[in-house]
Amino acid sequence: MESERVKKLITMLEELRNTVDEHVAPKLEIDKCKRVVQRMSSFSDDCKDCYQYLVEFEEHLRQLSGEYLAEMDVKHHKQKLINISSHLQKQHKLVTSGYYLSIYMSIGTSLGVVFGLLIFDNIGLGLPLGIAMGVANWGWIRCRCQEEGNGHVIHEHKD
Ligand SMILES: [Zn+2]
Repeated sequence: MESERVKKLITMLEELRNTVDEHVAPKLEIDKCKRVVQRMSSFSDDCKDCYQYLVEFEEHLRQLSGEYLAEMDVKHHKQKLINISSHLQKQHKLVTSGYYLSIYMSIGTSLGVVFGLLIFDNIGLGLPLGIAMGVANWGWIRCRCQEEGNGHVIHEHKD
């Protein structure tokens, strides 16, 4: 089965974390790599792309380990992660942690910009306040939705 390969890859990732410069290690997103490897492995029996990515990733890790990592290597590594993540998202409907938060943040921020402009009519003053308001509003809306158990209805605030 594939589990031997996964174990080997996880070990390689751990070694990588221990050998690279402490400033470089966070950029490699080792924990994310581990999750991605496990996901790819679980799909690799049925999905030839996942299988291919897994083989490539192993080869890629072998090249990364043991030598000094240049900026290019880190970029290359990130690009690989992006390619794999987007395959997992598109083909296997997976979302990365932080995905929903980033949507909330961007909606909250746009709301904030609009509120900021409407109320303060001053983008310099309105923008930071607006963004804060937008995020806070969105958090409130989200809480209300969860309370009501309905993600689509936003109730009026009654004092
Ligand atoms: Zn796949």
